[in-house]
Amino acid sequence: MSEHKISALKVHRVLIPAKAVHSHGSGDVSGIDAVLLELTTDTGLTGWGEASPWPVFTGTSEANVAALHVYFRPFLIGADPVQVEVLMNRADKVLVGNPEAKAALETALLDLTGQISGLSICELVGGRFRDEIPMSFSIANPDFGNDLEDVAGQWADGVRIFKLKTGFNDHSFDVMRLEKLREIYGEEADLRIDYNQGLAAYDAIRRVRDLERFAPTFVEQPVKMHEREVMAEITRAVDVPVMADESVFNPREALRAASSRTADIFSLKIAKSGGIRRALEIAAIARAAGIEVYGGCMFETSIAHAAGAHLMAAVPDLRLGCEFYMSNYYAEADIAVEPFQVAGGNVQVPKGPGLGTRPDPDKLGRYRLELLS
Ligand code: MG
Repeated sequence: MSEHKISALKVHRVLIPAKAVHSHGSGDVSGIDAVLLELTTDTGLTGWGEASPWPVFTGTSEANVAALHVYFRPFLIGADPVQVEVLMNRADKVLVGNPEAKAALETALLDLTGQISGLSICELVGGRFRDEIPMSFSIANPDFGNDLEDVAGQWADGVRIFKLKTGFNDHSFDVMRLEKLREIYGEEADLRIDYNQGLAAYDAIRRVRDLERFAPTFVEQPVKMHEREVMAEITRAVDVPVMADESVFNPREALRAASSRTADIFSLKIAKSGGIRRALEIAAIARAAGIEVYGGCMFETSIAHAAGAHLMAAVPDLRLGCEFYMSNYYAEADIAVEPFQVAGGNVQVPKGPGLGTRPDPDKLGRYRLELLS
C-alpha cells in the first residue's frame, strides 16, 4: 500500500495529422487518432498513458474514450495506483476487450508507481537490458518517390532498417520498390516486408517466395489474422521468417501460435496485449518456444512510443529492433514536452522515474478534439 490515492481522471482525445498518407494491406491512414489518459493523485503526482487504436486492427478511439471515462473511472477514483495488477484485473472484469484503453491505464499506473518509487517503467517491470534499440521505418507511401526522399534522409540519420508495406497495390509495385531499394542501398539495408493481412490465402506462398530473392529479414502477417493454419503453412513452406502481428494479440493467442508454430516471430504491441506486462507474458511464451519478438507500434504519439521503449528495454533477447518512428518521422508534430529521442538510427529508452516523458499542455491543447473529466 502506498499513501497515494488517485483523485482525478482526465481523458484527452487528440488528432495529429500525418506528413503523408500511409497505405497498408488493411487500409489508408492520414493521421494519429489517439486517446491520452491523465491520472492525478491526492499527493500532486500526474501519470500519463496512451490508447492508440486503429479501427481495422484493434478498435476505435470512441470506444477507448468510453472505456476510460465511463467504465474504468468508478474503480480508479480513490484507488492506490501502485496496485497495478489488482487494478488491471478489475479493468478486465468490468470490460471485455479494449486492449488499447487498458494499455493507456496500465502505462499511467506504472508512470505513477515509477514516480513514487523513483524507478523507470522498464526497471519496475524487470530491468533495463538496453538503453537504445535499432529503429525501423515503414515505407508505406503510395507515392514511392516521396518514400525514397524520406529514406534518403533517414539513411543520412543512420537508419538502416526499412519495413516495406506490401500487398496494397499490384505485386509488381512491391517487386519494383524492393528492386530499387536493393539497387540504391545494397546489402547494408535491413529490409522487411509487412502485408498487414493483404494476401489471399490461395497464392500467398507463391507471392512470398517471389520476394525472397530480395533477402528480406522477415515477412509480417501475410494473410488474415484468423487464418492461423494458413500462417503456419506459410511458415513451414518459405525460408524467410514469418512474423505474426494481427494474429497474436494476447498471451492466450501467443500460446496457441507457439504450439502450432504459426510464426517464427511475434510483434509485441502494448495496444494489442493491453499493456506492457501482458506483452512481457507473450515475450516469455515466445522465449520458451524459440520465437523471436519485435517492438511493433500503432499510429501513436511519443507517449505510447515511450511505453513501448520501456517494454522492449525489459525484454531479455532482442535482435530485430523496434518501429517507434511515428512521432519523429510520420506525425506533423508531437505533443510531448521534449522530442522522442532517436540517435544514429537508434531509439533511446527514456530515463528518469516512471515513463520519463509527458505531454506539453500547449501542444496537447493544439491537437485536442475532446476533453472529458
Ligand atoms: Mg504489422
